[in-house]
Amino acid sequence: MERLRIVGGRVYDPRNGIDGEVREICIEGGRIVAELPEDAPSLDARGMVVMPGGVDIHCHIAGPKVNLARRLEPERRRGDVVPRRVDAAGAVLRSGTGGLVPSTFATGYRYAGLGYTAAFEAAVPALGARQAHQELNDTPVIDKGFYLLLGNDEFLLRQIAAGETERAREHIAWALAAARAYAVKVVNPGGVAAWKRGGSVTRLDDVVPGLDVAPRGIVAAIAGAVDELGLPHPMHIHCNDLGMPGNSATTLETMRAVDGMRAHFTHIQFHAYGGERDGRPTSGARELVEYLNAHPELSADVGQVMFGPAVAMTGDTPVGYLLQRLTGGKWVAEDMELESGCGIVPYEYREKNYVDSLQWAVGLEFFLLAEDPWRVVLSTDHPNGGSFLSYPRLIRLLMDRSFRDDEIRRVHPEAVAGTALADGLDREYTLYEIAIITRAGPARLLGLERKGHLGPGADADITIYDDDEDVERMFSTPRYVLKGGVRVVEEGEIREEVHGTTLHVAPEYDASLEPVLRRFVGDYGTVPLDDYRIGEEEVHRGESFVPARR
Ligand SMILES: [Zn+2]
Repeated sequence: MERLRIVGGRVYDPRNGIDGEVREICIEGGRIVAELPEDAPSLDARGMVVMPGGVDIHCHIAGPKVNLARRLEPERRRGDVVPRRVDAAGAVLRSGTGGLVPSTFATGYRYAGLGYTAAFEAAVPALGARQAHQELNDTPVIDKGFYLLLGNDEFLLRQIAAGETERAREHIAWALAAARAYAVKVVNPGGVAAWKRGGSVTRLDDVVPGLDVAPRGIVAAIAGAVDELGLPHPMHIHCNDLGMPGNSATTLETMRAVDGMRAHFTHIQFHAYGGERDGRPTSGARELVEYLNAHPELSADVGQVMFGPAVAMTGDTPVGYLLQRLTGGKWVAEDMELESGCGIVPYEYREKNYVDSLQWAVGLEFFLLAEDPWRVVLSTDHPNGGSFLSYPRLIRLLMDRSFRDDEIRRVHPEAVAGTALADGLDREYTLYEIAIITRAGPARLLGLERKGHLGPGADADITIYDDDEDVERMFSTPRYVLKGGVRVVEEGEIREEVHGTTLHVAPEYDASLEPVLRRFVGDYGTVPLDDYRIGEEEVHRGESFVPARR
């Protein structure tokens, strides 16, 4: 068994209440252990900062839409080639391309190079699960998993409309098990199904044409089913009306609609605007932060916008359509049969643009006004608000007020004027809080017992940074990254390629659902039901979790 003692480093392990104390971290057999003998090999971390590996709760790194985005813009990737490399030990690193939507190998290498050891793809339709798994199998180093799109699933919406609550719940369990997914994702509930019928759903009580159901009923039914199934992560919801002025009212209504149940509101920045529908958006963040602060069963990731190039990549087809009308550039949209949709639009956020600046400011309001960092965690909705490679800059914005104030002076002044940033918020995140929003918090929200902390039994996924006053530089280039106890990164360079696991749930379901579902898919689908099922052998190094029903 490989053993290692990390000695002399200042440890930030919020889940175990360790705030910068010098501690020894011991590793044996890929896990953290309480202690090791003095003669076990050691790594000198004096003058360094030790944290659990980063956990990305929401990004887009695998599946059909990600691959479409890679193909949509070859010109943006030509300048960022990741060459094949054979190192001294003879280990081979695969070639690829980087850019905003890196190829599979490059995705794994770059996440690891940033100190992240787990990342979750946030939107995969059941029909795209096979491709998503194939890409995740090819993504080295990090542990991963994906969320299954269910908020516009025809069969599910019909069950909810008919009041067949139990059958709806069993369908969710069946679909997660068949796709080997980790959690349930809801995107614009009912809105994409309406779009496919030429209609529109933006508010909580707008009825989906042809289906006697509205978003309010959909989110309540799904959140309830996820609770009853005992899934490790609550319903992960992208609300209706993304990006539209005045949508914070819709978001607030959605929070009320899941009353008392757990729910995770993703990229909440994109759902937090005030103003009139046809007018200019303003900030609606304050009201939503207050609601979040007062409701411990709710959580969010921010979806911060970072200036520069991005790619809007969404299961929310109507949003893709509206965005391409704005940009007038390339785009792709696709229906995913009975399940969902997809839209991809390249975008660039500019400091001098009012709306872009407002989005940037609104994201920062969430970070700076949230009282509980365990429940409002870091994301850029990579690559929607910006690449995951921009996280170190975002961390600097949160930790360094004078840097933030300089940036505030560069953006559109009218955009900042109506936000809490204009009040001169002086909060500066500590390293302890950064460790919460980038690893301990996401791991807890995902129900990952062995991740996001450094207590005995945890996976030995560890990031060690040089203690540097320039936190952007510090978080860009970790000194060491360990994955399962193996030193995979040194000085930002991949030293060894390992393969992480694909995490998924395996809920039990009522088998009497299958004949009904088979008939439905036979009547309306083009793919037979059995082809939805992902075999165990199709997921390399899979690790499943059987949730206990409540
Ligand atoms: Zn997303």
